[in-house]
Amino acid sequence: MKPFDSAYLRLTAWYVVIIMAISFSFSFWVYNQAKSELRSGLNRAIELKSMANEFSKVPAGYSTAIDDQLQDSSGRLLSQLVLLNLGVLVAGSVSSYWLARRTMRPIEQSVEAQERFTADASHELRTPLAAMKTEIEVGLRDKKLNKDEAVALLKSNLEEVERLGDLADGLLALTQNEGMMPPTPIDLDYVAGKTVARLRPLARVKDIDVVARLQPIKVLGDKQSLDKIIGILLDNAIKYSMEKTTIHVQTYQKDGSGYLAVQDQGIGVKAGELPHIFERFYRADTSRSKTHIPGHGLGLSIAQKLAERMDSSIEVVSSPGKGSTFSVRMPLV
Ligand code: ADP
Repeated sequence: MKPFDSAYLRLTAWYVVIIMAISFSFSFWVYNQAKSELRSGLNRAIELKSMANEFSKVPAGYSTAIDDQLQDSSGRLLSQLVLLNLGVLVAGSVSSYWLARRTMRPIEQSVEAQERFTADASHELRTPLAAMKTEIEVGLRDKKLNKDEAVALLKSNLEEVERLGDLADGLLALTQNEGMMPPTPIDLDYVAGKTVARLRPLARVKDIDVVARLQPIKVLGDKQSLDKIIGILLDNAIKYSMEKTTIHVQTYQKDGSGYLAVQDQGIGVKAGELPHIFERFYRADTSRSKTHIPGHGLGLSIAQKLAERMDSSIEVVSSPGKGSTFSVRMPLV
């Protein structure tokens, strides 16, 4: 039995109890009301009958006949009400179960998503931890470990610790759920320019040229989130580009929206993988294997979440081996 099955049954039982309580009370009221109406109707009939035959008395067996008639009619009414309640019980149980499933579905989905998130996060945490554990164990077992080797081991462990720190930051950013932010006017070109300047040294390491063509555009959004989104897109463009290539960063206006585009000449994404790259922990094959580009598959899902909170969206066009263009669409002021 799945954990939610017993909750469905309990909720169904509560719905049925409520429906049956209403049905029984209603039937009880109808039964009493009908019985008293019947009795007064029959009494009135006797009165009218004796008034019509002023001189003749009401026959002796008349009142017993009325009682019999009353018992007969109320017996029939009772069996009809019992049948009605049985019908309500069956129909109520079926519809209650359906309603219980409908009510619980969003809760079940959210619990499932949370479980998946926890499982994925633990899996991501386990890999660097296992690498660190093995390195430390091997180092401790090595009786001839010299100082240089110990320093190399510590450096390698520090890298893993930094990776764990990034992962923890990413997980925190994904779990923070503040809802929609109050939008303020922002100079898209200014924020983009600052982010480009911040990440240029990283591009320089790979001899990548970052060309910025920034039209002045005022958009509505949150400055910090925008800075983070551009940072993620530019960082990815650098990570997934070969050396000595060019990255173009542009801001422009189209169809009543403000756009920021980051275009690279990197490895690109296969068409089949494109719909998944915004999913948590998803990494395309090319970034996992061979070249081993560092990352946890959280950047784009964080960027998309931040964009949605600003009533914005991120679109991507990519072709493997040629490059990708990620565009952020934002509302104009
Ligand atoms: P990460 O870069 O840490 O793996 P992201 O969520 O930022 O995580 O990206 C998810 C995946 O999308 C990456 O693993 C990569 O396969 C693909 N991707 C993202 N940006 C680019 C890019 N500019 N060029 C090629 N592939 C990209």
